[in-house]
Amino acid sequence: MRPITRTHRPKAGTEPVDLRSDTITVPTQQMRSAMAKAEVGDDVLDHDPTMRALEERVAALIGTAAALWTPSGSMGNIIALMAHLDRGDEFLAPAGAHVLEAELGTAAWLAGGMPRALEHDAGPGKVSPDAVRRAASTTGPYYNLRTKLLCLENTHNAAGGTITAPDEHAAVAAAARAAGLAVHLDGARIWHAAVALGVPPAVLTVGVDTLQVCLSKGLGAPVGSVVAGSAEFVAEARRLRKMLGGGVRQGGVLAAAGLVALDRIDRLAEDHARAARLADGLHERGWQVQRPQTNIVLVTVADIAGTLRRFDDAGVRASAIAGKVRLVTHADLTEADITAALDRIGPIERPRDGVSRMRPARR
Ligand SMILES: *Cc1c(COP(=O)(O)O)cnc(C)c1O
Repeated sequence: MRPITRTHRPKAGTEPVDLRSDTITVPTQQMRSAMAKAEVGDDVLDHDPTMRALEERVAALIGTAAALWTPSGSMGNIIALMAHLDRGDEFLAPAGAHVLEAELGTAAWLAGGMPRALEHDAGPGKVSPDAVRRAASTTGPYYNLRTKLLCLENTHNAAGGTITAPDEHAAVAAAARAAGLAVHLDGARIWHAAVALGVPPAVLTVGVDTLQVCLSKGLGAPVGSVVAGSAEFVAEARRLRKMLGGGVRQGGVLAAAGLVALDRIDRLAEDHARAARLADGLHERGWQVQRPQTNIVLVTVADIAGTLRRFDDAGVRASAIAGKVRLVTHADLTEADITAALDRIGPIERPRDGVSRMRPARR
């Protein structure tokens, strides 16, 4: 695979259109100059002033008392799970959740949690209050698992960037709390849900004890996430972050980019519009596409590896998730890139054997 290293936006028509993830964006000039000018301290010894400013701003945005910068979203999630779970405790999460599928099982071997995946019985990416109540009931004998935590994900990545609406979220979180569970929200793309719904992000965090949000996905920071909750949780999270090797020194250089990233929340509406155009175009070309709610387009194909290879040969990079081909729109794309991607992918071929095949690459 060609490595892609660049410091500027590629010109459509010459470079592959990279739709593998919204993490591939490079920092803007504005981020780079904010990083160069950042006021810094030693965040392990004291508290780096720019990291503090970022943490306070994120906490206000998502409606928590406190927040802590982490190098990655995975670290934010594992810190929260370590704080919530004792060895052998069960935790619930919607099937396909990032904590279940994409964090190397750390929820189990680092946080000691016994995972239970819940079916999406309330729509793609969503679980119902009833399902949570049923899963959380602990009326069995002493050797039954103790269910301690519900871990939600909004938007749900593997389900195709699907949104849980505020009322649905509040009902599920309330059911979990009533059943004695703590609630963690993996809000890697909570910004996308908020923009698509036209609500402040804090509306989507009602009833949660802790949450994790990413600055390096749609918002385009080069590095960084924030894990958040009560002041007591964040004090413990700081210890856990250090334990995991995530205590950084002059982190203000990175946090400065995160502060600029937070000015780019409204821009996500562009990514959503482009994902919709991409999905419509693929549908017109005969592909079996799920209608995107945010910036993730899932395509159902017979042969994933073969399709990814053909896309790549045609100049479109995609990835695989949950048995589908995933195309993600992001800040470093233009309208012309979407047009080019549709042109390059072209119509699906439906030969008589019923197996979906792409037309040979044009380039
Ligand atoms: C990307 C992502 C994360 C964290 O990812 P990092 O690559 O560790 O920053 C967590 N949850 C979801 C749903 C994600 O998409």
